[in-house]
Parts: sequence; C-alpha cells; structure tokens
Amino acid sequence: MVTKKDIRSLSLLGIETFFKVNGQKNFRVQQVYDWLWKKSCRSFNEMSNLSKEIRSLLDQHFSFPVITIDTEQKSADGTIKSSFLLDDGLRVEGVLIPSEGRTTACISSQAGCPLACTFCATGKLGFRRNLLFAEIFDQIALIQEQSVKFYGKPLSNIVYMGMGEPLLNYENVRASVEKVIDPGGMGMSPQRITVSSVGIPEKIKKMADDKARYHFALSLHAARDDKRGQIIPVNQKYPLKDLIKALKYYHKVTGKRITIEYILFRDFNDGLADASDLAVFCKNFPVKINLIEYNQVENAGFLPSEAHTMKVFQDFLEQKNLVVNLRRSRGKDIAAACGQLAGK
Ligand code: SF4
Repeated sequence: MVTKKDIRSLSLLGIETFFKVNGQKNFRVQQVYDWLWKKSCRSFNEMSNLSKEIRSLLDQHFSFPVITIDTEQKSADGTIKSSFLLDDGLRVEGVLIPSEGRTTACISSQAGCPLACTFCATGKLGFRRNLLFAEIFDQIALIQEQSVKFYGKPLSNIVYMGMGEPLLNYENVRASVEKVIDPGGMGMSPQRITVSSVGIPEKIKKMADDKARYHFALSLHAARDDKRGQIIPVNQKYPLKDLIKALKYYHKVTGKRITIEYILFRDFNDGLADASDLAVFCKNFPVKINLIEYNQVENAGFLPSEAHTMKVFQDFLEQKNLVVNLRRSRGKDIAAACGQLAGK
C-alpha cells in the first residue's frame, strides 16, 4: 500500500507543482493554501470553494491528519485545559489562559519530555516523540476557536511552555511559528509569541542565526550550577557558563531582551543568597524576570514559597534595578498550571 503524503507537508510551491501536473488552474493553489493555513480547515470537505472533483483529487493523493480535542476542563478562574488526541493515539495538553485584556495559548511541543526536571509533572512521563509542526499548529488553531467561543476574541499571545522542551524539537517549533506569523497563515505578530526552554546552547545560537523574531524565555529556576543540576538534570550537560555564552550571542545578534523564568521553591531557591546569584546571572544581558508561584506536583518533594518570602525576593531584585513580575498561577484546580501538565 502506498502511504499518502500529508497535504500540510507541502509548501506553496509543492501545491502549485501538484496542480500543474494534474491540469488544474493556478488560482486554486492559493485557495488550498488559505484553507490549510489561514482558515485552519480540518478536512478536504471543508474546502467549499473547490469543486467536488478537486477535493476528491486531493483526497486520492494526500492524507490530512489532524489532532482533535479529546477532553476539555474549565477551571474556576476561566482557564481551559484541553487534552489533544494525536493521529497515532498519543495525547498532549494545551491551555487557554484568559486574563485582563489577553487570551494566551500555552501549547506543547513534544509528547512527554526527555529532560525529567524533578519539579515537573511532564518530566515524570518520559519521552514519546516530537510533535510535527502541523500538530503544534493544530493546537493553536483549536485553542483559538475556544478563545473566540468562550471569550469572544482571538488569541492575543502564544507561549511554547506546555509539554516538552521546544528547543529539542527546534525545526518543528520554528516551522509552526512561521505558519502562525505568516500573513498568508494566521498573521499573528511574532512579538506575541514566546518560546520557553531550559536552555540548549547550540539551539539558542541557531535561533539567533535564524533571526528569530519571537521572544525567548529561559527557565532558569536556580542560578548556581550545583542547585540547578539538582532540579534540571540537563544542566550537567549544559552548565550555566555555556548558557551565558549562548545567550550573550543571542542578544548580540537579535538585540532582544531575554525573559528569565524562575519558579520559587520553599527553602530551596528562595533565599536572599539565591536572589543574589540570580541578580549576578542577570547582569550578563538585558532581562525581564518572571517569578513564578510553584504548583505542587505529586512526589516532587517541593513546596511553594511563602507569599512574604516571594515579596522579599522580588524586592531584593528590584533594588538591583531589575525588571521583575510576580506570576500567580492559573488553572491550579484542573492541573493546568505551569509544570502540572501530565494528562490528568
Ligand atoms: S520543565 Fe520543561 S524541560 Fe523540564 S521536564 Fe518539564 S517539560 Fe521537560
């Protein structure tokens, strides 16, 4: 049996060649491309301005695998967590987070994750596979529909902070961003997209060389190698000095400020000595720091910091003239908060 090629693996030129070979008019090419990437359609049948014959021609030659929403849970604070079913039966999760003036999609880049950070529920699942760029795109398109349905507006922001390490699936992440920012696709501004990573130095340099226009956030969580290595095992392979070097290069090439994500764990990384280490790390390049409230994960062995400790930590950094935001967690009651995605 001949396996049909996924229609969404074709470029605009690929569709053009196919139509030319099959004697179809050239204006059909843009129509199909629009259905795929602008209208995020989910089957050939939906392509209503194409004749039945053309739809059937496409169906004979191409497959059109899409992901679907398996379950949808709504939090008391309006956050919606979706479990997405992939074509091969695996599941990943994505979250819609409404906040004042914004609706943000948090999406997954891998099924599971190989990096096994100790505080993270996804890390306990192990790694299954990288997502294809169309699977990443589908999550965004489906959460976009939820945003319009439940909150009456399209997505304002996208964060690649769900399941998986985006930079270990760099090419698919990059290709999905391209479709989202393409005026012939969703047409979203790259300024509204953030890719978050624990830091893979060669990929950070690659992002710079590729002139990435989206934002980059580093999940730092500890600014000393001995401490960071305890919670993020890959830090042993890529110590902070390598990350600093890569981030300096990234800043030099792109001119962009780096977001530093820092989850506060009680009595582990929330003391003033830790804040001081963080301040020293942040002097290497322009940054914005997001301090994040920890959401407890079963058997992880960490507790969230006390509110007053978080405030003291924040004040210390602000006294060092650093830009700091304190991020409260959203969707905790449905395990949709940062680090909690594990298919529950
Ligand atoms: S924190 Fe991110 S990189 Fe670490 S295990 Fe979880 S999903 Fe993977």
